Amino acid sequence: MTKVLIVDDEGDVPVLFKQRFRKELNSGIYEFHFANSGEQALTFMRTLDPFDIVLVLSDINMPGMTGLELLKQIRILFPTLKVIMVSAYGDKKNYDEAVMLGASGFITKPVDFTLLKEKMFV
Ligand SMILES: [Mg+2]
Repeated sequence: MTKVLIVDDEGDVPVLFKQRFRKELNSGIYEFHFANSGEQALTFMRTLDPFDIVLVLSDINMPGMTGLELLKQIRILFPTLKVIMVSAYGDKKNYDEAVMLGASGFITKPVDFTLLKEKMFV
């Protein structure tokens, strides 16, 4: 089972993602976890088993630790994890920095769920 960690400070994100991924979640292949800050995401990630297969999806603009700072930490702690960053359209500066920091993918808000699924499940 792949654990998907979704990090976003917006409160409606868990409900939205559970709706849009109903089929995938029902299949039992994926297990979703949510964090509303980078700090909370790292706390969760420290509980992971080394054999867990994890995919992280993180918003960039969050109060406290930004998604890019979180990405930096993840790259130190878990160098091989797949991390997809989410940010506003046309956000070239964040895009460039995410690529430089080793993001596995980058999608823009509002999220195109078809595109996101393609990036997640390849
Ligand atoms: Mg945000």
